[in-house]
Amino acid sequence: METRTVPDCIFCKIARGEIPSRKVYEDDEILAFHDINPLRAVHFMLIPKRHIASLADATADDAGVLGRIMALTGRLAREQGSTEGYRTIVNTGRIGRQDVMHLHVHVIGGPEPLGVMLARNPD
Ligand code: AMP
Ligand code: ZN
Repeated sequence: METRTVPDCIFCKIARGEIPSRKVYEDDEILAFHDINPLRAVHFMLIPKRHIASLADATADDAGVLGRIMALTGRLAREQGSTEGYRTIVNTGRIGRQDVMHLHVHVIGGPEPLGVMLARNPD
């Protein structure tokens, strides 16, 4: 398994333990941690430990870890108290308003239903 990380990438630093995070889950290729600026009662992210800049940069080699990330979301969301569903969001590139260029899957939920998926009028 490739474990390449990028020195100045903030999520690579979190994956290496150089920047602290509130960990939700960890294994040899995946880390899940709470978003520092949560949008709802439950808001954490899953990342592959190896650096993939965005979903647009993913290749067939990444399918395994990305599948495992998606398959983990239900269990972790339930453990965090989002028992009746949640939303996964992968912001990608400039159009997707991705801020941190290390692929991450947001899991957002809590006790109340979320708003619509996208506002009709972009801000
Ligand atoms: P995105 O706009 O999808 O790139 O989202 C990046 C997310 O990373 C935002 O929701 C930030 O609040 C979150 N974030 C940035 N820095 C940290 C950090 N050090 N620890 C946890 N979450 C972070
Ligand atoms: Zn990275």
